[in-house]
Amino acid sequence: MGGRKKRKQKVVRPKPTVPKTFQCPRCGRLSISIKIKKGIAEIRCGSCKLKTAFAVPPVYKEVDAYGKFIDGYTEGSLEITEMREDEYEGESGEISRETEE
Ligand SMILES: [Zn+2]
Repeated sequence: MGGRKKRKQKVVRPKPTVPKTFQCPRCGRLSISIKIKKGIAEIRCGSCKLKTAFAVPPVYKEVDAYGKFIDGYTEGSLEITEMREDEYEGESGEISRETEE
């Protein structure tokens, strides 16, 4: 028995930036923001004001919730609502408003 002690070192690289915005299946823009609070994922589109929320397992992260959202949206199993103007918080910062010139 050699008793080799060769440990595999896993190189774990923390992702520097987790994308916080995702592409919206309705308007096609990269303006979906996802918040997970107490097992509920809140999905909002800053562009077309799409809004929905659904329960997710505690292990879910934004990107997982996004995958579920896309599935649900495609299947039509999600209840999609619209944000009201005063409801929109604009947290993502960059809101491109279309201005006519
Ligand atoms: Zn949208």
